[in-house]
Amino acid sequence: MKSLNQEIDKRRRAVMTPNYLPQPIEIQRGEGRHVWDADGKIYLDLMGGIATAVLGHCHPKVMAAADQQLHTLWHASNLYTTGPQVALAEKLAQFSFADQFFFCNSGAEANEAALKLARRFARDRGEDRFEFVAFDGAFHGRTLFTLSATGTPAYWKGFEPLVPGFHHVPYGDLTATAKALSSQTAAIIVEPVKGENGVRPAPPGFLAGLRELADQNGCLLIMDEVQTGMGRTGPLFAHQASGIEPDIMTLAKALANGLPMGAMGARESVAASLTPGTHGSTFGGNPIAAAAACAVLDELTEGGVLEEAAEIGRYLSDGLQAIAERLGPEKVVEARGSGHLQALELKGKAGPVIDRCREHGVLVISAGENVLRLAPPLTLTQEEAQKGLSVIEKAVSES
Ligand SMILES: *Cc1c(COP(=O)(O)O)cnc(C)c1O
Repeated sequence: MKSLNQEIDKRRRAVMTPNYLPQPIEIQRGEGRHVWDADGKIYLDLMGGIATAVLGHCHPKVMAAADQQLHTLWHASNLYTTGPQVALAEKLAQFSFADQFFFCNSGAEANEAALKLARRFARDRGEDRFEFVAFDGAFHGRTLFTLSATGTPAYWKGFEPLVPGFHHVPYGDLTATAKALSSQTAAIIVEPVKGENGVRPAPPGFLAGLRELADQNGCLLIMDEVQTGMGRTGPLFAHQASGIEPDIMTLAKALANGLPMGAMGARESVAASLTPGTHGSTFGGNPIAAAAACAVLDELTEGGVLEEAAEIGRYLSDGLQAIAERLGPEKVVEARGSGHLQALELKGKAGPVIDRCREHGVLVISAGENVLRLAPPLTLTQEEAQKGLSVIEKAVSES
């Protein structure tokens, strides 16, 4: 029998730019924590649409909210006021330090807005602050400004010259951060957990230390919560576990459960620099995506999802820890992560393990060459978690 997965892969190669190397299956349908490929095979989805499907695929309440909006108004632009994005900003403001929000369509765009705002905020005060301190291995996006903030030189290759003014220092190193700050620093930009770069949580006290350094220096602190936001690591926003508040926060991946939507939130005093005409986005705050995001926030904050997820997060974490211990240093370097963002750092490459898991019906992804990353929906059940863990253990031990 001819595989439909293989057929579409052939068509893809002919007409799509070769910047992606997708796994050799076509995902056709999703429901809850499962997806189906073109040949009808079912998979337990432990990567959740690359950390977007926080409530699982085709969540009934999110679908209903989007569907209602789909039959009401698709787009009007920001030349007019539309209800869903105002409602979403109100909800986000209620649950975060931020007073005001700018909406866009992706994580890179949210970070782009944050970086632009930080420069503008300084200039408004008559200060020549245009530089940024960012971290080695950090991932902030693929637009040129956010690529310049990204701390992985391999991603820069061939795209230079980068946007000037970025200093990268080791993640977790407050002394190096202090040294890189100057009277020209507009902001420090940091992920509370480095997502793409191996799922590496901020060491204890690091985020609080950055808050202190930013205050001493007089620059802003930007928290990139694009991957960690919306309950991914436990609290609604990961930095809330650190006891500090940034000046600007960015969101995207899980914000609308898989519909494209990004957001940048800031205190009113900082947001004030985005005066009329200074920034914008045609699709930003699109009513369908905003309506879906409202439903996501309601479900996370009032639907009890965060509370129930905490237990499964611990179960996953304990399970990976146990796998690391059983398989030992020959196979596993370390298990780490929090909530529903977990990783297993392997001795060998993650690729073959990912392939094996997929063959056994479980989807996981990498976060760097040797790191297996899990970013499942927060609605994952214990039974599903248990199944996923046993497949992962088998796959790691076999490769
Ligand atoms: C995914 C990601 C981005 C980029 O988001 P896009 O929607 O791909 O532009 C930025 N920052 C972090 C921390 C991310 O995980």
